[in-house]
Amino acid sequence: MEKRTEQYDVVIIGGGAAGLTAGIYCGRAKLKTLILEKTLVGGLATYTNEIENYPGFPEGTTGTDLMGLFHKQAKKFGVDFKMTDVKAVSLDDEVKVVETFRVRYECRAVIVASGGKPRLTGAQNEDKYLYDKGISFCATCDAAANTGKTVMVIGSGDAAIEEGIFLTKFADKVIVSVMHDPGKMDCNEIAKNQALDNPKMEFMWNTTVDSFEGEERLETVVLKNSKTGELQPVKVDTCFLFIGYVPNTEIFSGVLDLNRNGYVLVNEKMETNVSGVFAAGMYATNSLNKWPQQLGMERSLAME
Ligand SMILES: Cc1cc2nc3c(=O)[nH]c(=O)nc-3n(C[C@H](O)[C@H](O)[C@H](O)COP(=O)(O)OP(=O)(O)OC[C@H]3O[C@@H](n4cnc5c(N)ncnc54)[C@H](O)[C@@H]3O)c2cc1C
Repeated sequence: MEKRTEQYDVVIIGGGAAGLTAGIYCGRAKLKTLILEKTLVGGLATYTNEIENYPGFPEGTTGTDLMGLFHKQAKKFGVDFKMTDVKAVSLDDEVKVVETFRVRYECRAVIVASGGKPRLTGAQNEDKYLYDKGISFCATCDAAANTGKTVMVIGSGDAAIEEGIFLTKFADKVIVSVMHDPGKMDCNEIAKNQALDNPKMEFMWNTTVDSFEGEERLETVVLKNSKTGELQPVKVDTCFLFIGYVPNTEIFSGVLDLNRNGYVLVNEKMETNVSGVFAAGMYATNSLNKWPQQLGMERSLAME
């Protein structure tokens, strides 16, 4: 199939918080700007029901509402949006090329804002139950469907515990699998105390997932006690994984300099090693390792 060619000043890969913010700035600078987003405008922030740390929202807001405002603001400044997956990039020449299935976008600058995707446990049968078969990554999306049910949360970082607390508004019981010793969690102290005081939350310490079991849908999560090796099957309706995120930077491997964790390396101007190519968001870094502030969401993994 012959691909159509379109021209822009700037193409932004990813329509999460970073891509939308970049879009607002490019749009205001009167640059002809396109945001390419493969799944959902708003990115990972739309997975959460409660954002309490964004300035200007003293009562807090939801991820969907906040990202809806970012989207509206970018559109107001004339940014174009296309819902499609970027398959390949060619960035070495002055005219950069960003390719999707049907179109070849030519532009003068590219901003990589492709963010991350949830990390999997790697336990047996995980692939069989992803998304609508019982393993979820989004409490906002799947909480209501679990009204009156028993769910499990894997992890003890901020996302795991805060989303677990949110799930108690719907589910009868929220079982949290924590790999650490009793009372030790990776989340902030406020969330930790709220969770420990929540009568609907139950903690299974020193555990990791050994396997996921069920017929068509997930029915049982088999946990393994890291101290005793004992396997413990737990019946659940849905299992929510909050064990960190990994960068969506595979298509830039060998094209842009990445650090050993797959983050795009940038300087203080957010420039990558390729002229005219910038990176922004949770997986842009000027460190060969991780930024300290990025450790928040991945603290649990980093400490394991
Ligand atoms: C459950 C949860 C709760 C959170 N709570 C908070 C909170 O309370 N406060 C807070 O400050 N932060 C919170 N965060 C973190 C916040 O969501 C992230 O910091 C933010 O989403 C990072 O934005 P980003 O644009 O860098 O990446 P992302 O949000 O990951 O966006 C990247 C986008 O790029 C798209 N993309 C990737 N590859 C391609 C491709 N090849 N082609 C086209 N599109 C592509 C993806 O589909 C995605 O939409 C939370 C995150 C989660 C998951």
